[in-house]
Amino acid sequence: MARQTIDFGIDLGTTNSAIAVFDGIEAEVIPNNENLPITPSAVRIDDSGAVTVGKTPRERYFRDPDNGAIEFKRLMGEQETISFADSGRSMTPAELSAEVLKSLKSDVQQRVGEELNAAVVTVPAEFGLPQNKATDKAAQFAGFSQRVLLQEPIAAALAYGFQAEDEDVFWMVYDMGGGTFDVAIIQMRDGMIEVINHGGDQYLGGKNVDEAIVKDLLIPQVVSRYDVSDFRLGNEKWRVPLAKLRLSAEDAKIRLSRQPTAQVDIDYLGNDDRGQPMADFLVEVSQADVERILEPMIVRTINAARKVLEEKRLSPGDIERLLLVGGPTATPYLRQRLEDPTSGLGIPLDFSQDPMTVVACGAAIFAGTQRLEEAMGPAVTVEPGQYRIELEYDPIGPDPDPLIGGKVIAQEGGDVSGFTIEFVNRSLPHDDEWRSGQVPLGPDGTFTTVLFAERGLPNEFGIDLRDATGSALPAVPESITYTVGGVPDRPILTHSLGVAMANNEVDRFFEKGTPLPARARSKHKTTVAVRRGGQHEELIRIPVVQGENTVRADRNKLVGALEITPDEIRRDVRQGSEVDITIEIDESQRVLTKAWVPVLDEEFEEVLDLNPPPPDVGALQREVSEERRRLTEARQQAIETGDPVAREALDRIEQERLLESAEGSAEAAAEGQKDAARQCQDLLLRLRSAVDEVEDALQWPALVSKAEEAIEEAERLVSDPEIAAHGGGSVDAEVRALREAIQQKDRDTLQARLDDLQRKVVEVLQKHPAFWVALFEHLQGLQLQMTDQAQAQQLIARGQQAIADGDVASLQGVCQQLVALVPGEVAMPEGVPGGLIGTTTKFW
Ligand code: ADP
Ligand code: MG
Repeated sequence: MARQTIDFGIDLGTTNSAIAVFDGIEAEVIPNNENLPITPSAVRIDDSGAVTVGKTPRERYFRDPDNGAIEFKRLMGEQETISFADSGRSMTPAELSAEVLKSLKSDVQQRVGEELNAAVVTVPAEFGLPQNKATDKAAQFAGFSQRVLLQEPIAAALAYGFQAEDEDVFWMVYDMGGGTFDVAIIQMRDGMIEVINHGGDQYLGGKNVDEAIVKDLLIPQVVSRYDVSDFRLGNEKWRVPLAKLRLSAEDAKIRLSRQPTAQVDIDYLGNDDRGQPMADFLVEVSQADVERILEPMIVRTINAARKVLEEKRLSPGDIERLLLVGGPTATPYLRQRLEDPTSGLGIPLDFSQDPMTVVACGAAIFAGTQRLEEAMGPAVTVEPGQYRIELEYDPIGPDPDPLIGGKVIAQEGGDVSGFTIEFVNRSLPHDDEWRSGQVPLGPDGTFTTVLFAERGLPNEFGIDLRDATGSALPAVPESITYTVGGVPDRPILTHSLGVAMANNEVDRFFEKGTPLPARARSKHKTTVAVRRGGQHEELIRIPVVQGENTVRADRNKLVGALEITPDEIRRDVRQGSEVDITIEIDESQRVLTKAWVPVLDEEFEEVLDLNPPPPDVGALQREVSEERRRLTEARQQAIETGDPVAREALDRIEQERLLESAEGSAEAAAEGQKDAARQCQDLLLRLRSAVDEVEDALQWPALVSKAEEAIEEAERLVSDPEIAAHGGGSVDAEVRALREAIQQKDRDTLQARLDDLQRKVVEVLQKHPAFWVALFEHLQGLQLQMTDQAQAQQLIARGQQAIADGDVASLQGVCQQLVALVPGEVAMPEGVPGGLIGTTTKFW
């Protein structure tokens, strides 16, 4: 029987990739030409232009990086291309990934004899919009006409046996790869598997251990034994010996997962400074060495996992199992640390699956749920005399009694009147056979019925089509399969997305986890004026950022920006002009940003330029030293105040060695080490957030007293009989929320609730005519600074008249228009709230 479902799943990994196939019950890994279950995601192009993929290209890469590429998954979604010196070719990360996919595809061709056109390809939960798009493109380049992306942790959970019955159960996936760490919480909701939260570290993985072994253990030995100068990582002169050291270090590390000591044994490292061979290099490495190197890395992963739990208000006790994924999770020390209830996570571990291939297997299981388009389409060949059946159903679902519908199509307009169709579950034991009964077709050949499926079986249903006389007829397909199981939901947004505003807050358009496609709209006002044909620096810039920090936009990742420049506008756009922003994200995660500017009666749009500029090394070094300064200062203050929360955050920075790692990678970036700049940028973001946390904790007492003062003042205000006489209002709800926020001890929440209360107070105040009179008087004082004098004069005259008439509504309108004439840099008195002038924002 021809395949009805995709069945093939691919783990397109940063370090290694693998492909597996679903046989109806289980997934099976398909080994490559070298008989290995995994294929390193490495590409080499030699001078003749021949492209090779896998183990040899990976090994060769370390000696000859100019003609090879590894870890290009990190660059997915960026415009950067990678060039291959000898052949003169250059390729995008998506094209390189396509080579890996093609290699896996040809392994299938060779082993199974099938030409694949469809596959499920996994992506990290961490992947944002551009990376997913690039992955899809890679699969398209590799000749997959039907492609489905699946998040890696979901694939892992499926392979570990997550089932439709696991409602209300949380699992955590702990995935440490070659160079990345991902952690995710999985839950079943209404029969759908979802990643409800995720986190991790983009620059933490097995290769850090290999590099540390080389740097801390092997290089000192080389230096002491042989006559070598400046023997260090990154030095071109020693590239070949360093490559040998690195590969042997990895090899030894892998052996150490099974045995207490292992030897790095290299017959010939290269020639020393005097041209003498460096021979018989032998160093013993022990598990204890690996443990020492791993320790700060493990702490970082544990903290990341705890954070992911906290964000969902979960504790380790709520998690049923911790699934181990990725090569380094084979390390006994890592498992032991994770299991520890106090210093680790204390969640029961599950490592029953092979950590290197579990993601591919899960992808295959999922692929078994995805209908093959070509099996449904008109491309299916129908022999003369056969009837084609177009079916509508999900091949895997939580429901043991799924609905199925369809249409029987006769060739050349033949008649189907009086026909019946019947489904027979052939997978059940013969004495327990299940049949749908003969379902009559509608006049146009359509039908619907309900199937019955057994859990844990690939239920195969034979299709029995009969004409009006009851004779059986040949039909295509002649059978279908259905499996009871959990199915992931629609694609979701992996990071929250919003617009960064002038005050460095984020107006969040979409929450993390929003099902796609999605669309959202929000109104803003500009605080810069843009003159038609004016200076190019004057522009309206709408930065779109991805990330979870709403009060500090610059702690998020900048995805791109929609810019409206002076040469694009037909007339001047005043400061305070309205901009109506719409962001749309489609299922393939393309982000379309539109800005409607009413004064221009024009819409600007942009498919975001998703290419973040590579960080500049000088700037990185400056930023790192700035963080060192902040950290030192915060540490000093913490000692003085003895604040326990600040202390705790400082300890974490220490244990994770965040500052040292950031400094190390800045240094490596300066030495030209590939990827180090990006790693440094990533570490900087975390370091900054961690220092923010310390500072927040230190400022907490001050913020609390500010909140308490605000409460007192608000309560005094509402009890003022004169305010009450003008409509007044209650602030009880806001005060209660603010008090709760004080209990919660979260700075951002407290600040937000404080803002809410202040907004409410102003709302109460605004009902009192005296508020408007006072504001009007204040604005009068600013007249000379206003952007349009003639208009200001006119408005002021109208305002005076309104006061004379006691017309509060008109006065209010006048004030609003006057506020719009005040330049952005002029501070407004307290009590002129966002509510009055709209969300006035100057875009970054
Ligand atoms: P990725 O997800 O990045 O493709 P993998 O899950 O394939 O990565 O893990 C690759 C990493 O696992 C490498 O750093 C490799 O050295 C390491 N590794 C593989 N097997 C073991 C083992 N048995 N013990 C420790 N580390 C291992
Ligand atoms: Mg992986």
